[in-house]
Amino acid sequence: MPKITSINERLVFNSRGDKAIEVDVVSDNQFLGRACAPSGASVGIYEAQSFIDNDPQKTIDAFRVIKKKFIGLDSADLKTIHETLKGNDETVNYSNVGGSIAYALTISCIDSASKSLNLPFYKVLNPKINKINFPFPLGNILGGGSHAGQGAPDLQEFLVCPVGAKSIFEALEINSKIHKELKKNMEKKDPRFTGGKGDEGAWAPNIDNDGAIEILEQAVANSGYDPKKDVRLGIDFASSSLWDPIKETYEYKRYGKTLDTQDQLDYADNLIKNYDLIYAEDPVHEEDFEGMSILTNKNPRCLVTGDDLLVTNKNRVATAAKKNSCSGAILKVNQAGSLYDALLFAKECDDNNIKIVTSHRSGESTDNHISHIAIATNSVMLKSGVVGGERISKLNELIRISEYGLIEGMAKWSNSI
Ligand code: PEP
Ligand code: MG
Repeated sequence: MPKITSINERLVFNSRGDKAIEVDVVSDNQFLGRACAPSGASVGIYEAQSFIDNDPQKTIDAFRVIKKKFIGLDSADLKTIHETLKGNDETVNYSNVGGSIAYALTISCIDSASKSLNLPFYKVLNPKINKINFPFPLGNILGGGSHAGQGAPDLQEFLVCPVGAKSIFEALEINSKIHKELKKNMEKKDPRFTGGKGDEGAWAPNIDNDGAIEILEQAVANSGYDPKKDVRLGIDFASSSLWDPIKETYEYKRYGKTLDTQDQLDYADNLIKNYDLIYAEDPVHEEDFEGMSILTNKNPRCLVTGDDLLVTNKNRVATAAKKNSCSGAILKVNQAGSLYDALLFAKECDDNNIKIVTSHRSGESTDNHISHIAIATNSVMLKSGVVGGERISKLNELIRISEYGLIEGMAKWSNSI
């Protein structure tokens, strides 16, 4: 058993230039595991709290007091590490130790164990995985919302999923091609387009929501793919960022529209149907399990997915499953806190036939653990940007995993949706 012999922690910076917590765990005095906690810009109200009192340094200082409790533990024993952490924090949102510590500690333990055991990270997490089915890369091509400045669309992400791809390399190549093509199309449409990008490397042009989905569909077709068959489209509405709980309306501030609950449902439903979306994330706000259920029931060809709705929390999945609120679930470890919490969430999704989409955050490091987490949890998609070092690091890790010789193909769900 790999035994934890030392732990070191530090403040570093993420892809947005904000402070982030990184933890090193060493097993048996030689096997270094390292993980840096990411952070979101569109943050669900039920997510784990990243830092104690929003203070990264205070969070590090508090961890220094308790970290000796982890020395001597088996770094592959995620449950014991999780329980030791919970022994210091009984809150539901990790406000006593900080979600960033929960994330970075649990992931760096498995990273260290994987080196000590000479096994891939995904195999330490899920020893039952024998043949790999790759998640389809769900690539963020164009966006706005909390990830980009004024003038960009109110909706946060316009995405592509290359469901016709036969290998992970082909899938990644298709997404890169469309990302490039969209820039060319945008330059033709708007000669003043600066080539500006949002936090996740998606283009952030001056365009409204309907123009954005149209130009994305055109870029897919111009790249030689059928947007209703080979490469299907998706949207992360991130509706909680638009929702005004006092007025009970969705405020599309950039393009001057106000929608009530029914208007929003109709708008999302029309977009799903008109563009044959394969993916619709948070089409209504984070408390609206009923609205999600209406869209899920009406759109069996679309993965209607909860992100802020579920916040990687197994109890919220149980509620969603009872109401049939979604067919897809975003898995972001740092929403839950520890990697152990995220695995419980994945099991609850599996038990209820809700498909898992493992996701990056908008504020990232160059870590690539989520690629392994996607494989370990049998995720059908890995949601990520298409360009930028902190995005490419995850995608290129999938290519490396494809050299392991245990490949079955791409995730199996695509024919049925
Ligand atoms: C998202 O909303 O799905 C997302 C990745 O953005 P963030 O990390 O800002 O929540
Ligand atoms: Mg989202």
